[in-house]
Amino acid sequence: MENIKKHNFGAGPCILPQSVLEEAASAVVNWNNIDLSILEVSHRSPEFESVISRTGLLVRELLKVPEDYTVLFMQGGASTQFSMIPQSFLKTKGLYLDTGYFAQKAIKEALFFGDTEIIASSADKNYNYIPDIQSHHTNADYLHITSNNTIEGTEIFNWPDMGVPLICDMSSDIFSREIRIRDFDLIYAGAQKNMGPAGMTMVIVKNKLLDSIDKPLPSMSDYRVYRDNQSLYNTPPVFSIYVSMLNLLWLKNNGGVSGIEKQNIKKAKLLYAEIDRNTLFRGNAAIAHRSRMNVTFQAVEPTHEQEFLDFAAKRGMIGIKGYRTVGGFRASLYNALSLQSVQALVKTMQEFEILRQPKPVGAESEIVY
Ligand SMILES: *Cc1c(COP(=O)(O)O)cnc(C)c1O
Repeated sequence: MENIKKHNFGAGPCILPQSVLEEAASAVVNWNNIDLSILEVSHRSPEFESVISRTGLLVRELLKVPEDYTVLFMQGGASTQFSMIPQSFLKTKGLYLDTGYFAQKAIKEALFFGDTEIIASSADKNYNYIPDIQSHHTNADYLHITSNNTIEGTEIFNWPDMGVPLICDMSSDIFSREIRIRDFDLIYAGAQKNMGPAGMTMVIVKNKLLDSIDKPLPSMSDYRVYRDNQSLYNTPPVFSIYVSMLNLLWLKNNGGVSGIEKQNIKKAKLLYAEIDRNTLFRGNAAIAHRSRMNVTFQAVEPTHEQEFLDFAAKRGMIGIKGYRTVGGFRASLYNALSLQSVQALVKTMQEFEILRQPKPVGAESEIVY
């Protein structure tokens, strides 16, 4: 069934495929005809254990996760990882790449645990680019990067190599493009951007990094406890994991990560081309670092900003207001957002341009707003 609702460009929680929502809705009432809701079953039941293990297998299959990496399902959002990572791995120094709002939040938490060095920052231009990182070998416990900067609309396409474990916040571009897991030692992502509903955080971690933890930690802050209990040490976010499983099945049946990546490139190209063509708008991010997931742009004429938001809202577009630190507009093009929605936004921008372009004296406006 096609998406029959609004064109949802929201940054997160974000759009999910209509078929996934419908299956999830029916499971809330009667799951797999067992006369119980998915919300009522024990997380220790064989039924749910098969859900969590199948979700793990789908993650492994879709991202080609090697044997010596562990997939964990946790809670507390990506934000909890900001502190768990330094708590677990920072012994002498943690390196951070400062590329925006969420990178900053990760740095803030690391400061509680030890020496933190910012190896490069794009704060000088309100984070509209990815700073150049000279790859070299250095002495530190890890380098932390944010692969996609959800708020600023920039994305990293070349991974730095500092000769230390690479840790990546992939919350907003996981499953959107092919990656080589071997390039990373730990990847984490809040589910609600491209994987499923809010409530679950996925961690993919190299066993060697896990084994480097050499101190006792409180259970809920100890990755080893999650590993040793197959992410079932305490009650996991059952519904979020279940819907993520449905969403990953949808992804698998729709070309997998390489298939969706082609779609995502197509969607992003279409929208950026219109931003570059349309005289009323301009893009925020440096062209080489433009995000395929979160497209940020401005109205050239500030008075057009609210007008365009209203104009687009009337055409069923929601979630395109930019975050307050950046302003302007942000259209998030996550996996489940269709090409048709992007085409609709492009058409809306074109209509707005015709409406707002100065008319020759005496000419009548043909479009009624
Ligand atoms: C949304 C987001 C976060 C915060 O995630 P929570 O699950 O709300 O803690 C962190 N990093 C990035 C890149 C994000 O997009």
